[in-house]
Amino acid sequence: MNIIKHFVGGKVIDGTSQRKGQVFNPATGEQESEVILASKSDLDKTVEIAKKAFETWSLKPALQRARIMFKFKELIENNFDELTKLIVSEHGKVYEDAKGSLIRGLEVVEFACGIPHVLKGEFSENVGTNVDSYSMRQPLGVAAGITPFNFPAMVPMWMFPLAIACGNTFILKPSEKDPSCPMRLAELLHEAGLPDGVFNVVNGDKEVVDAILTNNDIKAVSFVGSTPIAKYIYENAAKNEKRVQALGGAKNHLVVMPDCDLEGAVNGLMGAAYGSAGERCMAQSVAVAVGDIGDELVSRLVKKAEALKIGPGMDKSSEMGPLVTKQHLEKVKGYVDLGVEEGAKLVLDGRDLKLQGYENGFYIGGCLFDHVTTDMRIYKEEIFGPVLSVVRVKTFEEATKMINEHEYGNGVSIYTRDGDAGRTFASKIQVGMVGINVPIPVPMAFHSFGGWKRSLFGDSGMHGMEGIKFYTKLKTITSRWPSGIRSNPEFIMPTME
Ligand code: NAD
Repeated sequence: MNIIKHFVGGKVIDGTSQRKGQVFNPATGEQESEVILASKSDLDKTVEIAKKAFETWSLKPALQRARIMFKFKELIENNFDELTKLIVSEHGKVYEDAKGSLIRGLEVVEFACGIPHVLKGEFSENVGTNVDSYSMRQPLGVAAGITPFNFPAMVPMWMFPLAIACGNTFILKPSEKDPSCPMRLAELLHEAGLPDGVFNVVNGDKEVVDAILTNNDIKAVSFVGSTPIAKYIYENAAKNEKRVQALGGAKNHLVVMPDCDLEGAVNGLMGAAYGSAGERCMAQSVAVAVGDIGDELVSRLVKKAEALKIGPGMDKSSEMGPLVTKQHLEKVKGYVDLGVEEGAKLVLDGRDLKLQGYENGFYIGGCLFDHVTTDMRIYKEEIFGPVLSVVRVKTFEEATKMINEHEYGNGVSIYTRDGDAGRTFASKIQVGMVGINVPIPVPMAFHSFGGWKRSLFGDSGMHGMEGIKFYTKLKTITSRWPSGIRSNPEFIMPTME
């Protein structure tokens, strides 16, 4: 059995804990590895190492830190196939999709290569007579990242390239379901010349997370995962005086207007609802059919969803792979059962799918519900599987009201040919990331990623300038260099003249 350990201080270490988690290959259903679940004392020792590394790393010129990022970028590119296969083998998503997610992570590394430019401060000459003012952004210290199973490379890469390029040291606690790719990324960073202790991976579960939240030397926590845990992280990190950004779950809507390019909308929905087996926080799990478009939309969706090629992620012909674990498969099937009980019309049922040769894999076929209503739990809750719900509304206003009233506000899209509808939608919708004739509006690395409402706790998104701000603190200096003139004490509020 392959044993996955921790990466601390520039090397793979065992740690002190005997507790272990199981890591499966979702395509076959076989357990392929055990991951060691670290203890509080393992985490505390890692923080000591990262704190020591910060003393020298934070003083390195940004240009030198950028050069390591350039080298890291090259190493990722040279090892694309191996990294992609690690994602496929533990997450289950199909190869090209896994590769795409790695590229989206790589783009953050590319952004981090420009760190000397990005960290330039501001300067004002003569804010008062012979007084100058300038500002700079300085690193925080040790930062930690806690990440979900669904993007084992990309989500950690939303965090650590910027955190370390800004001069922080970093401890990553990846998902215990698929930790191998983050471990390999740590080795590549080491190979790129990153000093020991600047980037560390501590594998584990709630015990490590709680140790992160209570360790006084961790100054910032970035979290991505489900909403209940995001809220827990937000509250407890703040209580322990840490900076925190906690991204949570989602229920994303794609509005299909009657005037839209329907084939474009259907194709967009297919990829956005069933891609990565619906295990994406930006998956479009609700199609909102406006006016009289519902029947035609559903009939086209059924045809395409029936033809979905489902199979192991390493099979080049597969369009959709298995779910991550047996427990998750049972949960998703449970939601389909619930939808039927709630009275939604199940027009495509993927629950009984069995693949020859892969009978123990965690597969489910694409599922499609029609006539879903807003009081149903399958509408309100995140399913995180290949289950698309169609809700029918009469008007654009009804569609936007419904979306604005939903507890989540991660992503949303509208398909229309009407510029006025598109512009009004972008302006009025209460959601953080909006697509117009674009199915999955994930911002690029040089913009920032983040939802609204219960999809994000905290006030800063990931990567782009939001990420830079999150991982640095602002210092503003006001300076005067008088030659020989001593001023008298002043007891009034200083004003600049
Ligand atoms: P999860 O919340 O179960 O786990 C996320 C992380 O929290 C993992 O590292 C896990 O070990 C840890 N964790 C789990 N339970 C914990 C507990 N009780 N106490 C402390 N830590 C705990 O999420 P998941 O199932 O790994 O990922 C899927 C979820 O992540 C979905 O809800 C999805 O929408 C969300 N997600 C959101 C975004 C976003 O950008 N908003 C991106 C990706 C995934």
